[in-house]
Amino acid sequence: MTAATLGTAWALDWMARAAKVVSANRIELIELDRAIGDGDHGENMDRGFTAVTAKLADARPADAAEVLKTVATTLMSTVGGAAGPLYGTAFLRGAKVADGELDAAGVAGVLEAALEGIKARGKAEAGEKTMVDAWLPAAEAARSAAGSGAGPAEAMRAAADAATAGAEATEPLVATKGRASYLGERSAGHRDPGAQSSALLLVAAAEAAEAQA
Ligand code: ADP
Ligand code: MG
Repeated sequence: MTAATLGTAWALDWMARAAKVVSANRIELIELDRAIGDGDHGENMDRGFTAVTAKLADARPADAAEVLKTVATTLMSTVGGAAGPLYGTAFLRGAKVADGELDAAGVAGVLEAALEGIKARGKAEAGEKTMVDAWLPAAEAARSAAGSGAGPAEAMRAAADAATAGAEATEPLVATKGRASYLGERSAGHRDPGAQSSALLLVAAAEAAEAQA
């Protein structure tokens, strides 16, 4: 049995797993960004999540919202590039709607808020070969899982699977936002680095949810 709700322990475990997976995939993210950007995404994300780990080690967060808020401010001040403000906004918006313990609808609400934050900050829509292409199917999958009676871990897993498929599906797309858009048609044939890092983060969230008893 997985937990009926997700709270502080889940959010902290999510971030511990996120830091690990970002570090393990640092080179891959660098290479994806080298193909259609400037090659710094793996470095940026690893720096950010190393800082998140340090910050959370000293924190005594009262709830998941407080964890997400700390993550937001830390990523904003350490990641840099386009992804720093985008992820910062995503986690900040998520924190605002994370009200106590999260059930499946709560998880969907957090992902939807994060997605809206990214879209607003990046002025991006679906299909522009950005991290939106991972977060949008993720939020939709979580909402649909919640609607059919899934628990929060199942909703999070549905979101992670959808984000992974969404990141893969950015490969044939032509970028119209961010640095990759400078390449025009030549951006096709490569996976978007931000969509890939987003999928990694959401898989980490699902694993953390499944580990909650
Ligand atoms: P930079 O492009 O400044 O070097 P990063 O390499 O850290 O920053 O992040 C690049 C990622 O940010 C892209 O792969 C894409 O997913 C995301 N991104 C860039 N611009 C936007 C935007 N306007 N809206 C949404 N996501 C974006
Ligand atoms: Mg870059």
